[in-house]
Amino acid sequence: MILNFDVIVIGSGPAGMTAAIYLKRANVNVMMLDKNAPGGQINRIAFIENYPGFSNVAGSDLAYNMFMQTQELGVPYKYGNVVSIKDEGDYKVVKTEQEEFTCKSVIIATGRKPKELGLENEKKLIGRGISWCAICDATLFKDKDVVVVGGGNCALIESLYLSDIVNSVTIVHRSSEFRAEKIMQDRIFSNPKIKVHFNSVVTKLNIADNKLEGVQVFNKEEEKESTINAAGLFIFIGFEPSTEYVRDLNIATDNNYIVVDNNMRTDTPGVYACGDVIKKELYQITTSVAEGSIAAMSAVNDLKE
Ligand SMILES: Cc1cc2nc3c(=O)[nH]c(=O)nc-3n(C[C@H](O)[C@H](O)[C@H](O)COP(=O)(O)OP(=O)(O)OC[C@H]3O[C@@H](n4cnc5c(N)ncnc54)[C@H](O)[C@@H]3O)c2cc1C
Repeated sequence: MILNFDVIVIGSGPAGMTAAIYLKRANVNVMMLDKNAPGGQINRIAFIENYPGFSNVAGSDLAYNMFMQTQELGVPYKYGNVVSIKDEGDYKVVKTEQEEFTCKSVIIATGRKPKELGLENEKKLIGRGISWCAICDATLFKDKDVVVVGGGNCALIESLYLSDIVNSVTIVHRSSEFRAEKIMQDRIFSNPKIKVHFNSVVTKLNIADNKLEGVQVFNKEEEKESTINAAGLFIFIGFEPSTEYVRDLNIATDNNYIVVDNNMRTDTPGVYACGDVIKKELYQITTSVAEGSIAAMSAVNDLKE
């Protein structure tokens, strides 16, 4: 049977594009598929200051440079929303809403999406006050006031990180207590720069000059609405891996994140995963590109066998 490609990379964020670069340079017949513009999440980041080699780079510029590198090498890029991957043993069938492709191996690099609050103007304010990444964006709010939404470990750890940089942090949490570890809670309550609004939800985003100016908060216990002025809103109510389409594939997942070994192999031969879509500790561009290269080289080695 003649297959369309040796390897199909699903997702053209930093992980997928790195995998494609390594595969093409190893003379593998590879194609990239994405349901959006190439670049992934980094297209949504105004400035990246922690990617080695660039002290300050616009996310869209980094995405463009990575994509151009794939195009100079001649990696075919196709638009397509992948809806399923079928494992036929020796080969895989990747199906998008419009087309179907066959290949020997698949690299899954579809990342994850931050959970949103679901408020009006939320999408419009991404990069203009709203963020899901304190490590990445805290310095944009140096000496300014910010609001953090969430009550888990992530929200509290990120609040502590932010408090070293911004003027004040107000945590808005919908329950009467945090879900986070006790030690984290103690650190929050003893930090003079952090205030907490329990039993509260953000109901509205206030805008001035196309930027976030503050939020309206409703206290469910007191049934009272108040305004918090803030230049930044950090939402830590969780992320969801983009893995809906791999459900039919028999690979191990943990909370829908794909479980891989150190070489980015899933437990299904010929299926690899890398970047934010896998279960790991640090979700960053540096880790994603590293995993993309490892996934590619695992695929190259397995193809040789
Ligand atoms: C607001 C924000 C700021 C950040 N700032 C930084 C920072 O400063 N520094 C840093 O290192 N990291 C930062 N990050 C994290 C960084 O963006 C991610 O770690 C990185 O983008 C992960 O790369 P990836 O290739 O694994 O996934 P992604 O970048 O998420 O790319 C996944 C790609 O897969 C595509 N896709 C998804 N589902 C399908 C499907 N079914 N079919 C086809 N295509 C699909 C998507 O369209 C997307 O293009 C930030 C993240 C956010 C949200």
